[in-house]
Amino acid sequence: MEDIKLRHCRRAVVQVSLDAITANLRAMKALLPEKTAMLAVVKADGYGHGAVPVAKAAEPFVAGFGVATLQEGIALRRHGLGGIILILGVTFPEDYEEMVRWQLRPAIFERDHAEKLSGLARKLKREIPIHLAVDTGMSRIGMKPGGQAEQLAEEIYHMPGLRVEGIFTHFSRADEEDKECTRQQFQKFMEFTDRLRQKGIEIPLRHCSNSAAMIENFSSNSLELCRAGISMYGLYPSDQVNRELVKLTPALSLKSRISCIRTIGPGTAVSYGGTFVADRTMTIATIPVGYGDGYPRNLSGKGCVLIRGKRAPVLGRICMDQFMVDISKIPEAVEEDEAVLIGSQGEETITVEELADLGGGFHYEILCDLGKRIPRVYRKDGRIVGIKDYSWDQYEDFL
Ligand SMILES: *Cc1c(COP(=O)(O)O)cnc(C)c1O
Repeated sequence: MEDIKLRHCRRAVVQVSLDAITANLRAMKALLPEKTAMLAVVKADGYGHGAVPVAKAAEPFVAGFGVATLQEGIALRRHGLGGIILILGVTFPEDYEEMVRWQLRPAIFERDHAEKLSGLARKLKREIPIHLAVDTGMSRIGMKPGGQAEQLAEEIYHMPGLRVEGIFTHFSRADEEDKECTRQQFQKFMEFTDRLRQKGIEIPLRHCSNSAAMIENFSSNSLELCRAGISMYGLYPSDQVNRELVKLTPALSLKSRISCIRTIGPGTAVSYGGTFVADRTMTIATIPVGYGDGYPRNLSGKGCVLIRGKRAPVLGRICMDQFMVDISKIPEAVEEDEAVLIGSQGEETITVEELADLGGGFHYEILCDLGKRIPRVYRKDGRIVGIKDYSWDQYEDFL
């Protein structure tokens, strides 16, 4: 059955191929030495794909998951996901009890936070696993390698109730052709962790690689753990990453339908601001999706959609919930026809990268911004295996 004909999906639908997710994970795993495990990064609701279904599909291939917030971690646990769940950002001490209850791992790099957590471990009489964050060049979070950081790491290591399960850093420029910065970051990290080892501080899981470093076969791939984000969803981190090294398949497509067709004469303006004015008789179609769904407004007058296997260019400004396209060259189009905004139709394909380039946007951001007004439909072996309709639980726990 066509997903676009499903209840609640008639206006717009995001389709996610779980087969693509698992194929991408297999391909990424094949880049790594046997002993290196992966974390599947499912922050920001799995880069807009839906964190829980993606995590469930990824579970057989990974040691755990990377999330950005406490709530994202809890959502995974509530749905029964096991393994390591690492909160990649800072968790505030007020949230420690809840974090421990759900067995989520915090990124720790400040004495004060470690002491509070150690106090909690004593109170709860349980061991709390943590990962140390190291800042080797992002200037975002983490301890900066050096004498003070060594001492701090040593203190934390010996704090009662804490178990330092992992230590990690994040590359700022691994997706660039020039790998000099990445090499320097990695060197800083290795010198730091090696010195800790010399002091008897054995940390089982060291991890640095994001998708770009994994694809470019960076030295950090032979540590114990890597963190795969964008590659799992089938996109390359940037156009400077060598696509020959791994074959990735985009998992997501975005489909809508023509809601209205009309003919306009010369001199007729289209959409807000009248930025497009027809210079001849044209046939135009309205697509019931807009920036309120995360379809970037900067595609105004630039984007296009696929109708009947052909490209229909966007006319004028993208509105909050609708936009218009030129179908003068697609006379066979009728109302309710499928319009593909991201993905393939016939021989044609519109990629997220193409939209990012056209609008001067960023491909990761376009995925993350896809609105919760659009239901997600999950497919596996050609069959629908689940639907996530965010409109149902939006006001759950409303106070
Ligand atoms: C988001 C993130 C990742 C994943 O990055 P990709 O480029 O999507 O693979 C890995 N590690 C950290 C710390 C992150 O914040």
